[in-house]
Order: sequence, then C-alpha cells, then structure tokens
Amino acid sequence: EQRELGRLRSKPSRTRDQVDIALLANAESLEDVTQAHALGAQGLGLYRTEFLFLQRNELPDEEEQFQAYRDAALGMAGRLVTIRTLDLGADKADRTGLTLSNEDNPALGLRGVRLSLARPKVADTQLRAILRASAYGKIRILVPMVSTRDELLAVRRRMTRLTAQLRAEGHAISERVPLGAMIEVPAAAFALESFIDLVDFLSIGTNDLVQYLLAADRNNEALGELYSPLHPAVLRLLALVIETGARHRIPVAVCGEIAGDARLAPLLLALGLTEFSLHPGTLLEVRRAIRDSDLGALRARAPKLLAARDRRGIERWITG
Ligand code: PEP
Ligand code: MG
Repeated sequence: EQRELGRLRSKPSRTRDQVDIALLANAESLEDVTQAHALGAQGLGLYRTEFLFLQRNELPDEEEQFQAYRDAALGMAGRLVTIRTLDLGADKADRTGLTLSNEDNPALGLRGVRLSLARPKVADTQLRAILRASAYGKIRILVPMVSTRDELLAVRRRMTRLTAQLRAEGHAISERVPLGAMIEVPAAAFALESFIDLVDFLSIGTNDLVQYLLAADRNNEALGELYSPLHPAVLRLLALVIETGARHRIPVAVCGEIAGDARLAPLLLALGLTEFSLHPGTLLEVRRAIRDSDLGALRARAPKLLAARDRRGIERWITG
C-alpha cells in the first residue's frame, strides 16, 4: 500500500477522463514546505503564518517574518506560494497581547483580517515581509475571515502603499502580487459577487465555513456529527462559490480539512472543484482518489448530490 502510494509521487493528479486537478499543500512550518515539495505539490495553497506568533511573548519583526516567507518561496522552488495573513483570535489564542482576552464569543470576534485591520502596524509589518519575499518566488497573499468588500479594499490599499514604500527603499518587489480571499464566513459566500472584482483567487476554508453555517463549534465534541460538511446547506454553498468563481474566471480552491479526505474527493469534483489544498500527509491518497475518478460521470451525478436531504443521503451518493 505504502509502496503503491509512493509511486504516485511522480504521477499527475489527472482524472480518468484526462482532466488535470491542482493539488496544492497546506503548510504551517518550514518542514511542511519541504514535505510538500518532495511529494510533488504544485505549490502551497495555504501557508498559515500563526506559528510565527504563537508560543512567544514578543511579536516577530519584519526581518524574521521576511526570512520565513522567503524560505518558503525558495523551498517551493518557483512553484506557487500562498501566504495567509495572520489569523489569530478565536481558538488560536496568543501570548503577545495582540488578541483580545475578554470576548464572549471569540469565534465571532476580532480575528483574522478584522484583527489585522485593528492592528495596522502589525499588519503592515507582515505585509512588508511578504511583499519583500515576493522577489524570491511566486508569492500570493490570502486574507482570512473576509466578510465585507471594505476589508479587501483596505488590504489592497495597504498593499499598494507598502509596495511603493518598499520600492522607494530599494527593495525588489514582484511586479504583481495576487490577492485572494478565504471564503469561510457564510456572508462572504452569499455576497461573493459584491467583491469578486477585488480578488485574483479564492480559497474556501470549510473548517470555519461549516462552523459558521451550521452554528456548530468546530472544536466541540459534544456536538457529535452535527459539525460536518455532509449537510445539504454546506454542499449548496460550496456549489455556489465554485460556480460563481468559474463564471468570473476566478480560480477557487478548497483548503479546509475536507480537501485532504480522499473519501470526499469525488464529492468535491462533482461540485466542480478543480483545486485542492491539503496537508501534505494526505496528498498521495487524494491524488489516487482523483486518478480513480471519472470527472464527467461525477459532474453528471451532481444534481443527485445536491438533492440529497441528509447526511445519510450524501453518504449513499458517495458510496453509490
Ligand atoms: C478553514 O477555516 O477551513 C481553514 C483552512 O483555516 P483554519 O483551519 O486555519 O481556520
Ligand atoms: Mg479558518
């Protein structure tokens, strides 16, 4: 089994009917980056930067962050590197004093891009570090927890100002650093067309999207199976985002844990997904599932999937 999977390292992620599916990696350390490259990931679809801020009392400065992002770019040797801006808050508490400690509902509080915009100096330090790293690879910037058009406008404005500033200081910055939004707040999914002109790509964060859509805490085990992507509302919302992205020619990836669940690959393919971003540890299994799939047949079965009325119905579709 391991030997058989190992052989897939050098094989394309191509369906039986010859459609190429992009397999990108999620990483949260330099070791993950090395593993992603070794397994033939087409790039990093999600580089979580929280690790630089956790388990310490002081914020990382621009130089430390720059080196981390540059090393990721070099580690991927010219492949795509999607760096997510800081997503502290909620379950990702810190000791640096950056986040609030008195929120009644941290998951609904000052986290992700909200925190970045409330701490402009911290946000600028990170953006400068990422922009400087863009001279060393194909860097893109991904913004977490977007819920309004204004948040993206604010990030874009900062990027423009900081790029000019860095160039004036003599830094080489890539000609154009693409900007993307994570779709993990239901409002952003439903109102996608109100800001899609501001983004170059999208990445669906199903871990949070499921939590917020179903009002089910992603870490509360008492909820049992309630916290699950196998709910008709989740599938419909995924289909809506994927289809809206396709209509506007804006690439859409899924970077939540479901992208790394080989059993769910046919479901995501049926909904029209062509880009997966997943933990490198499951990359080969998902590649195998894709290579075993007939995309045309799955797409033809999509209406049945979207008509399923409950988890059992969705599971029957998967096994059927
Ligand atoms: C997600 O919410 O699906 C996601 C990928 O981000 P995180 O798990 O870091 O919140
Ligand atoms: Mg998230």
